[in-house]
Amino acid sequence: IMLLAGRTCVVTGGASGIGAATARVLVREGARVAVLDRRADDARAVVEALAPADGGPHLALEADVADPAAVRRAFTAVLEAFGRLDGLVSCAGIRITGDPLEVTPEDWHHVMDVNLSGAFYCAQHAGRAMVAQGSGSIVNISSAAGLVAVDRRVAYNASKAGLLGLTRGLARDLGGRGVRVNAVCPGLIRTPLTEPYFEDEAWVAALSDVIPSGSAGEPEHIGDACAFLLSDLAAYITGIALPVDGGFTAY
Ligand code: NAD
Repeated sequence: IMLLAGRTCVVTGGASGIGAATARVLVREGARVAVLDRRADDARAVVEALAPADGGPHLALEADVADPAAVRRAFTAVLEAFGRLDGLVSCAGIRITGDPLEVTPEDWHHVMDVNLSGAFYCAQHAGRAMVAQGSGSIVNISSAAGLVAVDRRVAYNASKAGLLGLTRGLARDLGGRGVRVNAVCPGLIRTPLTEPYFEDEAWVAALSDVIPSGSAGEPEHIGDACAFLLSDLAAYITGIALPVDGGFTAY
């Protein structure tokens, strides 16, 4: 049985890594998806490789989530094409690493604008459509770094913790109007973002010291959690931060 048969969903940051895998998982579960990313060519390539949906073609959209006007245009296009919106996965995100004492105001704002404000703009547009329908489910991709501090990424830690506050606030305000809002907190997932780490064999071998499951996760592990939270199996779940991290934050 497919969890999302007949549903329409937007995945931001869907051109790469966790977002692309999530788009594939949602389609596997029967959804029709719009892949939104600032990298238009990569978004189109992801969409072209998706299995067809029953309700009509999938959609690739170019938008910078940090640009409210671009987000508005993209969601207008989604609603024109799909007629309704059942799910949103906000996955677009960036990370800037370094000594917190050296972070520039520009870098700080860039991380906040994409990771936190971008998710808010998308949730507003999705939320309006979902409230009008009386149903919908939003999943924000936070991070284990939103739950526990990770070295040398202070703006990222703050943005991902802020995303949990956004998730809880929206869950509270939209719950009575049929919209559920949850966060997934991925641990270490092997994607283009983290690929460089995996060149260090000693580092990979030491992962089992900090990850009870013993190794990094795959992007589909996050997609599966999103499919669950978007589906009716999660009908009574809202406002949570679900770690999908092989137990990393259980220490
Ligand atoms: P990735 O770099 O492979 O993919 C990120 C995608 O987001 C890219 O396609 C990129 O073009 C898009 N994007 C970035 N800024 C954007 C913007 N302003 N507007 C629209 N699209 C934008 O990274 P990933 O590893 O797949 O990470 C996806 C999400 O998961 C991020 O939010 C990241 O913080 C989070 N996360 C990843 C890990 C991990 O270990 N990989 C762990 C915890 C959380």
